[in-house]
Amino acid sequence: MKINIIGGGLAGSEAALTLSKKKIHCNLYEIKPEGNTDIYKSKNFGELVCSNSLKSFELSNASGLLKNEGKLLDSNLLRIAEETKVPAGKALAVNREEFSKRITEEIKKSEYIKIYRKEITQIDLNSDDIWLIATGPLTSPKFESWLMKVFGNDLFFFDAVSPIILRDSIDTSKTFVADRYEKGTGDYLNCPMNENEYSIFYEQLVAAELAPIENFSDKALFERCQPVEEIAKRGLDALRFGPMKPVGLKDDSGNSFFAIVQLRKEDKEGNLYSPVGFQTRLKWKEQKKVFSLIPALNNAEFVRYGVMHRNTYLNAPEIMNKYMQSKKYKNVFFAGQISGLEGYVEAIVSGKISALNIERISTGKKLLSFPDDTMIGALINHITTNARIPLSPVYANYGLLSPVKGIKRKKERNIAKAERALKVFKKFLITEFY
Ligand SMILES: Cc1cc2nc3c(=O)[nH]c(=O)nc-3n(C[C@H](O)[C@H](O)[C@H](O)COP(=O)(O)OP(=O)(O)OC[C@H]3O[C@@H](n4cnc5c(N)ncnc54)[C@H](O)[C@@H]3O)c2cc1C
Repeated sequence: MKINIIGGGLAGSEAALTLSKKKIHCNLYEIKPEGNTDIYKSKNFGELVCSNSLKSFELSNASGLLKNEGKLLDSNLLRIAEETKVPAGKALAVNREEFSKRITEEIKKSEYIKIYRKEITQIDLNSDDIWLIATGPLTSPKFESWLMKVFGNDLFFFDAVSPIILRDSIDTSKTFVADRYEKGTGDYLNCPMNENEYSIFYEQLVAAELAPIENFSDKALFERCQPVEEIAKRGLDALRFGPMKPVGLKDDSGNSFFAIVQLRKEDKEGNLYSPVGFQTRLKWKEQKKVFSLIPALNNAEFVRYGVMHRNTYLNAPEIMNKYMQSKKYKNVFFAGQISGLEGYVEAIVSGKISALNIERISTGKKLLSFPDDTMIGALINHITTNARIPLSPVYANYGLLSPVKGIKRKKERNIAKAERALKVFKKFLITEFY
């Protein structure tokens, strides 16, 4: 019996390193560098395709709780994220090159992981091999067709990535350094705009030409990752309540502004920045034209332009059980975005859970499902049991956890849910896990 992991992204890399640490051999199949889409830029494992942020580490934020749970499970990728982090206020942001380089080095170094740089187009379901499907939102078309034939109902949505800008091309005389509500260590570069600058920018943005996409439907846009031009189309002020929100940001002289674009570091040295919330589907020449209307970006040099992509996932409630295992084929497991979990940390932690269950099935132990009052348990429970069919992708959020009574303020309620979750999680690790 062999263990085969398909996809060396976030979920697949976490799974391979998890099995390796348990001295279990596995094969890791990765289509890159040949044959995958233009969105992947590196041949390394664990590539971050868009933002370099793994979101907040605060417990009042659901992603912060999920990270804490991942760390309690000894997540390899979350450890590497900590080791390659760049300053980003209350968020865990990483140097993306360094992050995936370190993951790749650990995978290559392992005597338990055999790497195959090739596309998997189908699986022999009758063999006694175990398979982990972690091919992500950009699963190769041939494998996607096979998945559709076997598991049916393949679903999709569209989302986009933000551009990346060279620091030396930013006019820093027109920026100021600050974190919103001064929460952080001054990690964001803010590009302020006055009312006149904003309205010119707005008009050009809503009029700009979009890049054509095959079979595109705006009904299939992911609601949490709306392109900046789509947000703008909701009305003149929509961006000022979204990615260009000026509240809580003042320059050194205490001045407030009409609108602000925040730039986040892409690397520790701060040579590259990306505008927060500026994922876009505009044609590249339009991005250059419109984003250069932001005063500090008048001469901006774009090292990568934003692009939009189709994201594939499966209808988990019909095909998966709470162990991240196929209901029909017990030797097939899923992890990451293909399972309907959206987000970097969600992919990492689900890769961990699937690998732990693969280890258990291969050593004859009972499979594990995590308690519903934990974030990872609630996420898996949602996609496999509670979600409406067809599934909409889900990311960590406190709405998934049962209510705590008697606390009025949302932030305190969330922290109370997080504290309860961590207590349940730790108890589960002691009583069920080992
Ligand atoms: C354009 C885009 C932007 C995103 N931006 C963000 C963001 O900013 N923040 C966030 O939290 N989440 C984001 N996501 C969502 C999601 O968190 C990431 O896509 C995440 O990388 C998913 O992890 P994964 O392991 O499931 O897939 P991936 O990390 O994409 O890994 C899948 C791997 O499988 C390989 N592969 C595919 N098909 C085959 C095959 N047939 N055989 C062998 N190998 C194969 C791929 O080359 C890839 O390396 C984004 C998704 C997309 C598509």
